[in-house]
Amino acid sequence: MKFLDEYRDPKLARAIVAEIRKTVTRPAVLMEICGGQTHTLMRYGIDELLPEQVELVHGPGCPVCVTPLEIIDKAVAIASTPDVILVSYGDMLRVPGSESDLFRVKAAGGDVRIVYSPMDALRIARQHPDRRVVFFAVGFETTAPANAMSVWQAKREGLRNFSILVSHVLVPPAIRLLLGLPENRVKAFIAPGHVCTVMGYTEYEELAAQFHVPFVVGGFEPLDLLEAILMLVRQLEEGRAEVENQYVRSVTRFGNEPARRRMFEVFEVAHRKWRGIGEIPLSGYRLRPEYAAFDAEQVFGIQTRQVEEPAECIAARVLQGLAKPVDCPAFGTRCTPETPLGAPMVSSEGACAAYYQYRRHVDLVMP
Ligand code: SF4
Repeated sequence: MKFLDEYRDPKLARAIVAEIRKTVTRPAVLMEICGGQTHTLMRYGIDELLPEQVELVHGPGCPVCVTPLEIIDKAVAIASTPDVILVSYGDMLRVPGSESDLFRVKAAGGDVRIVYSPMDALRIARQHPDRRVVFFAVGFETTAPANAMSVWQAKREGLRNFSILVSHVLVPPAIRLLLGLPENRVKAFIAPGHVCTVMGYTEYEELAAQFHVPFVVGGFEPLDLLEAILMLVRQLEEGRAEVENQYVRSVTRFGNEPARRRMFEVFEVAHRKWRGIGEIPLSGYRLRPEYAAFDAEQVFGIQTRQVEEPAECIAARVLQGLAKPVDCPAFGTRCTPETPLGAPMVSSEGACAAYYQYRRHVDLVMP
């Protein structure tokens, strides 16, 4: 298939792996930020092709995984309200809250619907003027412009039965936190291609200069990721700490300025709590005061209740690159996609789900 096959060419992949082997002379711990990249790396066994000096650890870029328990609990409470239609991406339904999840609310008769776009939620709001329609707006910078657009459009149309439950987080503040951890081992980052398509990569230039750490903006196909790894290894070997762009077919230095302009009409930067990690200053978005009528937290007035993560789940360490899914004692035994203890085992972008799906668990659970 055009624009896919050429990024999955085995001959080219072998050539890039050979070049990585020729270039690397010292240990290099690399982190891919985005969960979509983690799944490609696992699916194509790229981590197993690399020389032993190159270790891949997985970052916090799975939006479902970092959505706090408290927000899931709020979504569950809102979805359980009789006149509400709660609209969400499918991944969110099985993410465990402290006591329930959206799937169980749906099974008990709640009106929880799956969509592919926030504009579908708007359509549902127009079709049901007698019901309150809430869109569960989860994600990184990538999905923020479309979610902002839905609110902007609702205000323009005077749709009073539409609101969004916002859980938007930002990549650069999380990387800053990781780089400041005393246990941090990451020497270089594959920056998230989709986030940078919207935001550009000037924020990563600041991080590269401040922490003297290389970044390569990477795509999502096997050759994209192999090329990004080669570019990072070259930077490390040459002592450079720059931002390079491997994903040139989608990303420019300044990103999508019209999309950002619309996004910042509706959202402003705010402190945000990350699941398992805690609050990171200025690491997310919230609706601006002039859009308060579309803020589901204000519309439904649900108080935040402090709740604890299951003690067994080490997702916080996995999301910070301090542990791998297979280091978790529950992985593949008490925690599976059918019986998840934590969000990274549920999400299609979760690192634990990737290890499970691509059979990295077989040695652990089979004799
Ligand atoms: S395997 Fe399950 S319990 Fe362990 S870190 Fe992953 S999601 Fe949490």
